[in-house]
Amino acid sequence: MTDEPIYLDHNATTAPDGRVIDALRHALAVAWGNPSSVHAPGLAARDVVARARDAVARLVGIDSSEVVFTSGGTEAIALAVWSAWQRRGRGRSRVVVSAVEHPAVLEAARALAPQGADVRTCRVDGRGRIDLDELRALVDGTTAFAAVMYANNEVGTLQPVREAASICAAAGVPLLCDAVQAVGKIPVSMRDVGADYLAVSAHKLYGPKGIGCLCVKHGAACVPIIPGGGQEGGARSGTENVSGIAGFGEACRLACERAGEQARMAALRDDLETRILRATGAAVVGVPGERLPNTIGLLLERVDAQALVIRLSARGVYVSAGSACHTGKSKGSHVLAAMGIGEERGRSFVRVSLGAGTTREEVARAGDIIVAEVERCRSRSGR
Ligand code: PLP
Repeated sequence: MTDEPIYLDHNATTAPDGRVIDALRHALAVAWGNPSSVHAPGLAARDVVARARDAVARLVGIDSSEVVFTSGGTEAIALAVWSAWQRRGRGRSRVVVSAVEHPAVLEAARALAPQGADVRTCRVDGRGRIDLDELRALVDGTTAFAAVMYANNEVGTLQPVREAASICAAAGVPLLCDAVQAVGKIPVSMRDVGADYLAVSAHKLYGPKGIGCLCVKHGAACVPIIPGGGQEGGARSGTENVSGIAGFGEACRLACERAGEQARMAALRDDLETRILRATGAAVVGVPGERLPNTIGLLLERVDAQALVIRLSARGVYVSAGSACHTGKSKGSHVLAAMGIGEERGRSFVRVSLGAGTTREEVARAGDIIVAEVERCRSRSGR
């Protein structure tokens, strides 16, 4: 048995696949031209960008002309929010967001308040799923746009995004779907969802950081937040991050190849979950059948999650206490709060997120270490 570290924080980020690193290296060393140049180095870079665009489009089932490369998920979301707001119809000043959206969505929506946006939050139930009746009541002829995420980063809950999209479509309201946590983990088809905007980030699917895209449905508004030379069809200026885009494209190609692996992932997740639950009496947060196949959200009574994460890290098991965005901040998680989990209980929340390379041996070893450290934390707190 080895004592290699075990990374179980794939919702925070993923280590780039070796083939992604090769694609980056190739783009940096060979396709280093400016894609806007008409000479050979420029054409080589343009070709790399075009191939990557095709790979991204294929993964989410859209046309490559609907892909706008951005610096990641946060910028993709900001672009969608800005575009939908700028092109809202007359009398439409309400903005509807689910209570469990990522801060990238919540803060972008809040930033519109000085311009007259009336930001409303759609509640979720105890398992983190949005209340579709409330969404139906909030989305009407006064609504500028709505945002409902595909999968939650902290607890893994999958939202009823198709139903949300049809509610929005019936009211003529554009829908932004933050699919950053879903793409690469489960099959995502933008057409099938029916969203107007879909945000994707490469570093959640074994790609590089600082690159992602906004998928903009044909006909949906796209108002640039970064003006300049008019790259990306005028939607996002700035010389393209060719190497990042190449890595993103490769990551998407690999994700297409992995498409059948969800069941394997879910089985490993269930195995780890059972090991932990049986020995610690933890409670699982989220919807059993409707969550990401890699994610376990645990409430561990009488355990300080931050302390546990540090202890586990010392033993080479890497998990997180909530999302990476909350770590180190004193404020509790807005996601857990929206699900009715108070701040005190929320301090015992630990997220374990498996990856494509997680093995049965790692699950068995991580399970033993987690159980042992939970017991240690409890015996200390009981003293
Ligand atoms: N949306 C969700 C659900 C996320 O989990 C994240 C990253 O953690 C983002 C958006 C932001 O993406 P990026 O890190 O590429 O800016």
